[in-house]
Amino acid sequence: MPTMRHHKKNNRSAIIIGGGASGLAAACLCVANGLPVTLLEKENRVGRKLLATGNGRCNLLHMGPPVFFGDVAFAQAVMARCGISQVLAFWQGLGLITREEPDGRVYPATNQAATVLDCLRLRLEASPLCEIITSALVTDIHKGPEGFAVLTQDGARHEALWVLVAAGGAAAPRLGGSDSLMKPLARLGHRVIPARPALCPLVTDTRAIRGLSGLRVPVRLGLEVAGEVITASSGEGLFTDYGISGLCAMQLARDVGEALERGKGVRLLIDFSPGLGLTPPEMCRISPAAFYQQAGLARQVLLALLGARRKSHGEDLLYVGLLPRLLIEKVQPLPLEEAASWLTGLALPVTGVKGFDQAQVAAGGLDCRDFDPATLASRLVPGLYAAGEALNVDGDCGGYNLLFAWATGILAAGDIISKSASLTKK
Ligand SMILES: Cc1cc2nc3c(=O)[nH]c(=O)nc-3n(C[C@H](O)[C@H](O)[C@H](O)COP(=O)(O)OP(=O)(O)OC[C@H]3O[C@@H](n4cnc5c(N)ncnc54)[C@H](O)[C@@H]3O)c2cc1C
Repeated sequence: MPTMRHHKKNNRSAIIIGGGASGLAAACLCVANGLPVTLLEKENRVGRKLLATGNGRCNLLHMGPPVFFGDVAFAQAVMARCGISQVLAFWQGLGLITREEPDGRVYPATNQAATVLDCLRLRLEASPLCEIITSALVTDIHKGPEGFAVLTQDGARHEALWVLVAAGGAAAPRLGGSDSLMKPLARLGHRVIPARPALCPLVTDTRAIRGLSGLRVPVRLGLEVAGEVITASSGEGLFTDYGISGLCAMQLARDVGEALERGKGVRLLIDFSPGLGLTPPEMCRISPAAFYQQAGLARQVLLALLGARRKSHGEDLLYVGLLPRLLIEKVQPLPLEEAASWLTGLALPVTGVKGFDQAQVAAGGLDCRDFDPATLASRLVPGLYAAGEALNVDGDCGGYNLLFAWATGILAAGDIISKSASLTKK
């Protein structure tokens, strides 16, 4: 049964499809400016994905220069109009206290994603201008001369002058992820870039890492495509029975997907030296071009260290205190030179990426060329807007995806509010 709260009909109202990050932000601004909103959410509660973000802490934005993929120019144009300071001002307006970590990631001071969701949801629930309807799967959108009719799976029909599509992307379906609205939007003339999992674990040949499943260690990763390192990352790697996960590996998924689609050979190069206390922080600053050189340097240093340790600790205790037990089992049988090579340049053929169910974000979506980055208004269907991951923009991990969701929700709401105000004046 759909849940309904606060009925208030008004012919100058907006429908927001999707009660996630961008939809909730837009709804809060609309009602704060006196514009009635109906929010349609297919799950039985709003903000399910939001609660899972940042491992339950919600990394709600990043203070560093934004890193976007897909239609990068569009994302930059959005940021030029609603960047970090405007998004922070929005959150201050909702009373959220935030905390910036040394790496630039911003979290709620409570360290709980629920606090972020509460700031949005409780405000909407308290507003007589907001009707939240949950368990309402939108199946179609019709444009008529007087506005829009939005149809839901249960046969209901909702009408409004403006529709904001804030329905996210296909990643993490267990948390509501879906791109089911792409077909209706394509019927309205919008171009759609096929979705692909981005930010998700890598599937590799597992022979060399058999037995390491469950191991979490700091690593530097290089992604080698057709014999050249094209991108690199560093952080905590998580070894699994299918390959490697952890944010530093997930960040490479978008490039892996693209390279495999083009039929290129892909290898993941793993350098364990950051976890051995051997790689100074400046070497963890990852430069794809310098990857081999840095790994070679780490190998020399490691070899010297292992030689010294063999003298002082003996063969049997050589690695004890230096490596986790699972890694010791891998390198103990190897001659020193081979062990040093294994630990600084293990190469695994990459065979794929995990699917949407394990992805944090989907690449692809609505073609941004059909939308105005200043207002998020459709250039094809007057009165229609789109925000967040539904658009062909995805961000790096670190808070950029939510930053884009907030910014686009804020801009879309701003334009709908000003259109509504100009109608009132007439
Ligand atoms: C586990 C996980 C952790 C993440 N952590 C972070 C992080 O810390 N920082 C960060 O920046 N990003 C993070 N992300 C990504 C981020 O959550 C998303 O990019 C962001 O939520 C997108 O916002 P959105 O409003 O576009 O879509 P969503 O927040 O996904 O909201 C879309 C809503 O629309 C609803 N919906 C979809 N289709 C329909 C339909 N047909 N009818 C009605 N309702 C519909 C969905 O149920 C959903 O509630 C994470 C993602 C995951 C999965």
